[in-house]
Amino acid sequence: MSRATAESITFDVEGMTCASCALRIERVLGKQEGVESAIVNYAGHEARAEVGPEVDIEVLKAAVAKIGYSIDEVKEGVERTSVTERYAEEVGYQRRNVIGAAFLTVPVFLLAQFGPDARWSENLQALLTTGVLFGFGAQFHKATFKQIKSLSPAMDTLVSVGTVSAWGFSLYALSTDDALFFETAAIIITLILLGRFFEARAKGQASNAITKLLEIGAKEARVRRAGVEEMIPAEELRVGDVVIVLPGEKIATDGVVVSGGSSIDESMLTGESTPVDKSVGDDVFGATVNQQGRLEFEATRIGRETALSQIVRLVEEAQATKAPVQKLADRVSSVFVPIVILVALSVFGIWLAVNGVVSEALTNAVAVLIIACPCAMGLATPTAIMVGSGRGAELGVLFKNAEVFERAKAVDTVVFDKTGTLTRGAMTLTDVVTDDDEGRLLFLAGSVEAASEHPIGKAVALGAEERDAVLVTPTKFEALGGRGVIGTVDGVDVIVGKSKLMADRGLGIPDRYLEAMERIELTGKTAFLVGWGGEVRGTLGVADTLRDTAVAAVARLHDAGFEVTMLTGDNRRTAETIAAQVGIDRVIAEVMPADKAEEIKRLHDQGRSVGFVGDGINDAPALTRADLGMAVGSGTDVAIEAGDVVLMSGDPMLAVTALTLARATFRTIIQNLFWAFGYNTAAIPLAALGFLNPMFAAGAMALSSVSVVTNSVRLRRFGR
Ligand code: ADP
Ligand code: MG
Repeated sequence: MSRATAESITFDVEGMTCASCALRIERVLGKQEGVESAIVNYAGHEARAEVGPEVDIEVLKAAVAKIGYSIDEVKEGVERTSVTERYAEEVGYQRRNVIGAAFLTVPVFLLAQFGPDARWSENLQALLTTGVLFGFGAQFHKATFKQIKSLSPAMDTLVSVGTVSAWGFSLYALSTDDALFFETAAIIITLILLGRFFEARAKGQASNAITKLLEIGAKEARVRRAGVEEMIPAEELRVGDVVIVLPGEKIATDGVVVSGGSSIDESMLTGESTPVDKSVGDDVFGATVNQQGRLEFEATRIGRETALSQIVRLVEEAQATKAPVQKLADRVSSVFVPIVILVALSVFGIWLAVNGVVSEALTNAVAVLIIACPCAMGLATPTAIMVGSGRGAELGVLFKNAEVFERAKAVDTVVFDKTGTLTRGAMTLTDVVTDDDEGRLLFLAGSVEAASEHPIGKAVALGAEERDAVLVTPTKFEALGGRGVIGTVDGVDVIVGKSKLMADRGLGIPDRYLEAMERIELTGKTAFLVGWGGEVRGTLGVADTLRDTAVAAVARLHDAGFEVTMLTGDNRRTAETIAAQVGIDRVIAEVMPADKAEEIKRLHDQGRSVGFVGDGINDAPALTRADLGMAVGSGTDVAIEAGDVVLMSGDPMLAVTALTLARATFRTIIQNLFWAFGYNTAAIPLAALGFLNPMFAAGAMALSSVSVVTNSVRLRRFGR
């Protein structure tokens, strides 16, 4: 099977037992023809490859099968075993193993400690331990076999080599006078299995966040088909269906209101707590909750196309990427295991040379192998990212990749684009100053602005209509980004915008209109001029309102040690008035849209790490330029290319959440790496010197896996 164009393929992966398995599959996939890059996610049992047209999926499968794993392409629309189901299976499997192993290990331990010094007791211990090792603990040796075959020893190799040598020596010792230590091998396996069981359980919990997100969708919908109202399962909805929603009910899918009206709680998608009023013509989104009115809407997007599905996909994609710190950890662990094996061999050799007791030398070597095993390593980053990004989605913040967490840590300056983040971006026309005919001015300005997408344009058009102007469509129209608009109405060339624009176009500006602008701007409103026929004829003022949370968000950022800056195309006076209201210390005003990225770069060059919050359309260059770009999604549209983080509404509190949650997630990753890696390594000298019982080492290791995952799961409570 070959492919038409370059694309990204997702595979389900079976057979991975540790993070280094993921690394190995990654390497093999990456080497295949047509594969540009491959990322394997151990915690998510998933691989993602960017492939070119010449790729052959069968070749990829065969290559992966050769190193002992299997991959299966995930096809669009085909139901997959959910990650949750898979974890449930894994939990069951590990539970059976640990219970079985414990059942055999307890008698081995009792016989070894308190049993008679008899032949039958020794033989029974040998038999039971063999059962533990190769029955319930078979997974370690199977994995080791694969790892050795592909010449890349990993964690399982350490466990396997350690326990098999203890077991093998004890078997040999049955016929000599040497001490037995079957119980060591049995207890190590049982404890590590216990660790795997807890790990599987905790991984399931970590993956829950995303499942929960999917579950918030409605299960049923009340539709009217052929004039009859009926309840149908949500999956059976089709585009074009008319869906009826009663008060308190969930919206079943995305659509447009066709009758009725209500206010809708969209907080589960946007993180914004105030319900949004909807009437005919407005968009509604699946999973949001209708508050008090009855409304009918026509379904426009279903299934994978809905805002909810897009959000889930974005989160899944982020979870499949790898943080740079993880790549480093992967590389370390691939050289770590061979080194540990060498260290263990030396420990064995030196002890044997120094005191000549084989069993003691072997015990200490086994302790080294077991304590050094970085088994929790593969969990350190993915579990934290899984929980962090899942929790983010619940709170209205989407992280686009794993690198974000690392980059957010460095951010020290937060820059807000004023309009739409600190202010609502919904403006109203408040001032009309003219010595000409006011009706004519509103007619001309309103008609031109009606064609503009800018919030100012909408405000002027609406304000003109409210003042009884009957607007027409301009015959010519041009928006001059950051300066104003020009258009032809009724045969007249009209200009609306900044004074500089007027001067550039050769219009005379009477002083009284400039004075009017200044007066309006000092109250924090935005003022601009209207002119035609070679002269400026009036001043208009529009007011934006501060968002309810702007002051609190800025205060929280200050508390957390961030510097807060406002960046705007608006004039200095307006900007400074608003900045003073919000408590912002620095204002960069009168910046043309195209220069915003330049301003961000200037801050960056001053040695700051800049987080920029702006809308995804106009501010794309600045979002890209910033060290951390936070794009404000509009209308639950999360398919924003620019930026690293999507904020699902303009609520500035979401920027605070994004930064603090990213920091908390990164902190968790670092803590995890320590638990997975640091303290094991520190304990190696203890084990080498004979101060660490191998059974105790096994317990410590199991504990480190559990503590890593538990530490990650803590992030689920972030912000509560
Ligand atoms: P912001 O940084 O607040 O998003 P913009 O760069 O979009 O601001 O616009 C900057 C300034 O350009 C506005 O404050 C206004 O003076 C002028 N302007 C932009 N668009 C229009 C318009 N449609 N009508 C009148 N003035 C406009
Ligand atoms: Mg803007």
